[in-house]
Amino acid sequence: MAGTFLAVGECMVEMAPTGEGTFQMGFAGDTLNTAWYARKCLPASWTTGYFTAVGKDQVSGQMLDFLRQSGIDVSQVLELDDRTVGLYMIQLKDGERSFAYWRSQSAARRLASEQAQLSEALTGADLIYFSGITLAILPEADRNTFFDTLRSARRAGAKTAFDPNLRPRLWESADIMRACVTEAAGLCDLVMPSFEDELAHFGDQSADVSADRYLAAGAGMVVVKNGPEEVICARPQERQAFQPSPVQNVVDTTAAGDSFNAAFLGEYLTSGDIAASVAAGARLAGTVIQHRGALVDCFEDA
Ligand code: ADP
Repeated sequence: MAGTFLAVGECMVEMAPTGEGTFQMGFAGDTLNTAWYARKCLPASWTTGYFTAVGKDQVSGQMLDFLRQSGIDVSQVLELDDRTVGLYMIQLKDGERSFAYWRSQSAARRLASEQAQLSEALTGADLIYFSGITLAILPEADRNTFFDTLRSARRAGAKTAFDPNLRPRLWESADIMRACVTEAAGLCDLVMPSFEDELAHFGDQSADVSADRYLAAGAGMVVVKNGPEEVICARPQERQAFQPSPVQNVVDTTAAGDSFNAAFLGEYLTSGDIAASVAAGARLAGTVIQHRGALVDCFEDA
């Protein structure tokens, strides 16, 4: 069976420290991480695409090359004359990592500014995946364009999956974040939150409360991740809990949720089996967190 998985969002340049004052350039971002893992999890007959906006400069070209070399289709990406890609720098102090971002003028903020191109990219995808960060970076009018385009794509048969990935600092206000995320959930077949975020920003007292809240918003199914705790999969009339295998040697939890989502969706899109999908998600995330960095090439020995 062939199909198309399309992730929509922002990929950034990552500068990771390699020594005193030296950095290595890479590329990462929540939805890109999921697309990168999805490419590895889905059968070769599937296309994995990424939709974003980049500039026309050298570093934008390097980003597109990186995506292509990762097997990701970037043929629909919007290329803008007057912008470039966002960047973040990882800094280390006494073993602790901190992040500095330069993304407020990034090209990706304009990804929904050309409705025709957005619509062409989304139309025909079997699954459209996006996150709360995808929404947070858009100007308000473009968010509405994005929602309208999502509605049309669903009418044309696309399924939609959404990780709320709540990051209040990227939004105009926490109230707007909660309202937009709730609206987005109502447009999605699958909502895949992490309970820690939902507790912090919606005040949910349990993963079941988060699941109920997104079902009430109109989500088809909610998959609540919760670190080492049970994953809850809830549909209106059905609820299951699955315990991920324990991981002893947690090194870096970056991209735990992103990789979980990719492996979950890779399995779910091909088998439709929820238990197998959670197992695949937890297995990949459990491996990723035993390594440093967002994109961990752990597939050869998988
Ligand atoms: P996020 O990185 O989005 O906050 P979570 O922390 O909820 O994501 O984790 C996503 C998934 O990663 C979990 O559902 C689980 O399968 C796996 N995971 C994360 N932390 C651990 C851990 N300490 N032990 C085992 N599995 C974990």
